[in-house]
Amino acid sequence: MELFDTHFHFDGEESYENFLARCREDLQLAGKNFRRLPDKLRMLCAGSDFEESKIAMGFADNSPEVYFACGVHPHAAEEYCKLTAKVDFSIFKDHPKLLAIGEIGLDYFYDMSDRESQLTTLQEFLDLALKWDLPAMLHLRDKENIFDAYDDALTMLENFTGKGGRFVIHCYAGNREYAEKFLALGGFFGVTGMYTFKAAHNIREAISVIPTGRLLIETDSPYLAPVPFRGRSNTPGMVALVAQALGADRRMTPEEAAQTFADNAKNFYRINKKGELV
Ligand SMILES: [Zn+2]
Repeated sequence: MELFDTHFHFDGEESYENFLARCREDLQLAGKNFRRLPDKLRMLCAGSDFEESKIAMGFADNSPEVYFACGVHPHAAEEYCKLTAKVDFSIFKDHPKLLAIGEIGLDYFYDMSDRESQLTTLQEFLDLALKWDLPAMLHLRDKENIFDAYDDALTMLENFTGKGGRFVIHCYAGNREYAEKFLALGGFFGVTGMYTFKAAHNIREAISVIPTGRLLIETDSPYLAPVPFRGRSNTPGMVALVAQALGADRRMTPEEAAQTFADNAKNFYRINKKGELV
C-alpha cells in the first residue's frame, strides 16, 4: 500500500535526509489508525518560482520517492513580469520527474501581485503546460463571497481544456457550484488537512459532490497541518490523516483510501505500476 502527497513545499533549508526523516516520523504519528503503515510515501514538490522549482528538482534528483513541479505562484507573478532578463524554465523540460506545471494560479485574497501580472503569468504557464503536455496545478483564492479569481480561471481553463489541457485545483476551497463547473471541464481537486478542520463544513460540503476518481490528497506542507496537529509545522507524512478523513466519509478504510488516492495521482500524473513515468 502506498500514500501520495501531491503537493508540498521544500525550502532547501535542511538536508533531504533530514526532511525525509521528519516525514517518516510524521507518518508514524499520522498513521496511528492504519492497521499497517504504507510501504511507500510518494510526494510531489511544488515550485513557487524559478528558484524554488530548481530546489524541488534537486530534491527529486536525490530521492526516488520525490517528484516535482515548476511554476510561478501568483504571489511571485508581479516580480516575474518585471524581470528584464527572463529566467529560463526550459531547464526543467524533459526532466523525467517533472509531473506538472505549478504552483500557478490567481490569488485575489492577498493580491500580492497586481492582477494583470497574475493573469499574464498564469496564461504563460498554461501555454507551457500545453506545450510540454503536462497537467497544470492551480492555486485559486478569492475574498469571502467573491468569485472573481474563480471566474477568471474558469474562462482560461475552458480555453486550456479545449486544447487538451488537464488540471488540478490544489487545496480546493471553493464552493459546490464552482466544483461542478471545474468538474465539467474535467478538473481534479486537491484535498488538504483543511478537510479535517472542525469549522471547514463548507469545504467538506463542496468536496462531497466530487467523485472519488477526481480527488487527489495533499498536505500543502509546511502549512495546514491536519487535526490533531493543527498549528504545528506540517510534512508530507501527515497526508495519512487526510487519507483517513476523506476515506472515512466515503466508507473506505485508511488503507483503502491511501491506495485509492495514490492510484488517482499515479493515473493523473501518468506514473505506471512499477513507479516509472509513462
Ligand atoms: Zn502550495
